[in-house]
Parts: sequence; C-alpha cells; structure tokens
Amino acid sequence: MDLKQFITIVPDWPKPGVKFKDISTLMNNGEAYRYATDQMVEYAREKQIDLVVGPEARGFIIGCPVAYSLGVGFAPVRKDGKLPRETVKVDYGLEYGKDVLAIHKDAIRPGQRVLITDDLLATGGTIEATIKLVEELGGVVAGIAFLIELSYLDGRDKLDGYDVMTLMSF
Ligand code: 5GP
Repeated sequence: MDLKQFITIVPDWPKPGVKFKDISTLMNNGEAYRYATDQMVEYAREKQIDLVVGPEARGFIIGCPVAYSLGVGFAPVRKDGKLPRETVKVDYGLEYGKDVLAIHKDAIRPGQRVLITDDLLATGGTIEATIKLVEELGGVVAGIAFLIELSYLDGRDKLDGYDVMTLMSF
C-alpha cells in the first residue's frame, strides 16, 4: 500500500516555511492505519520486543496498537509534570530553548527489549531523549519505528548504532 497518499502536507504550519506532515488523515483511514500498524508489528516480532515506549502524543497513536497486537505493554513518555508517580527525566533541546521528558521509574524492568515508536523523525532530538530514558532504566532499545522520516534533516545521525525502521521518507 502506498501510505504517502494518506499524509496531508500542510504548508506554513505551525509557522511560515514549515511543511507539516499531518498523519491524522492516515489514522482516519482504517485500512491505512491497520496496514501501517501491521508493518510495525512484523518488525517488532523479529526484534522480540517485550515493551513498547512512545513519546506524547503521536508516539502513543503509533505505539499503542502495536503493543496491543503484540500482547505486550506500553509505557508513555511525557512532558515534565504529567506523570503522577516517581519519574526519571531528561532535558532535550528544542529549536528554541529546552524541554523535559519523563517516564515512570518502574515502567521498564532491566533487560527488557524495548521498541520505541513515534510518528515522525525530524532532527532526532525527541527520540534521542526517549532512548536516554529507556537506557537509564536498564531497557535495551531493540528497535525504533517511525511512520515518517524527514531524511533531509539527518535525524538518523543521532540514532547511529540503533536499528531504525521507517515506513515513509520525505
Ligand atoms: P525531532 O525531535 O525529531 O526534531 O521532531 C520530531 C517530533 O516532532 C515528533 O515527536 C513529531 O511528532 C513532531 N513533528 C515535527 N515535525 C512534524 C511534522 O511535520 N509532522 C508531524 N506529524 N509531527 C512532527
């Protein structure tokens, strides 16, 4: 299936010059959403995944159906202050300034094989921060799956040494 036809490119959003890749039109199509999920499930089966981890909010949309299909758990990575119990945190660079991502301290058992999911790889900052959280808790990042990769931003350079799969490249 050609998944690109389900992505809507929105010019000048959220700011002038950006061509935002809107995945909501893919999710809105049951066949396309299932096809994309199935591709990731197949990848995750090869990697013998014990747990799926994804950053808010679109990492949940991608990761939760994969976890459900595999019959494994899902652990959310969230902005600071959103998780109710003890967390570990990491600072990560944004285009302007800094932000903090967090995960519950007991979300991953040491040695668990983790699949990280998100909708889109741009500069790689979000996923680099997510990897740090997983590894701090002793998880093994066995694979990283994205719907979309913006290959001109070289986000993959930050993921050197990790197994990365993407379903579409722009
Ligand atoms: P990075 O940290 O790799 O620079 O940015 C990736 C993060 O920003 C992802 O969590 C993704 O959801 C969001 N993002 C950045 N640009 C886009 C875009 O064009 N479309 C979508 N759907 N998400 C984007």
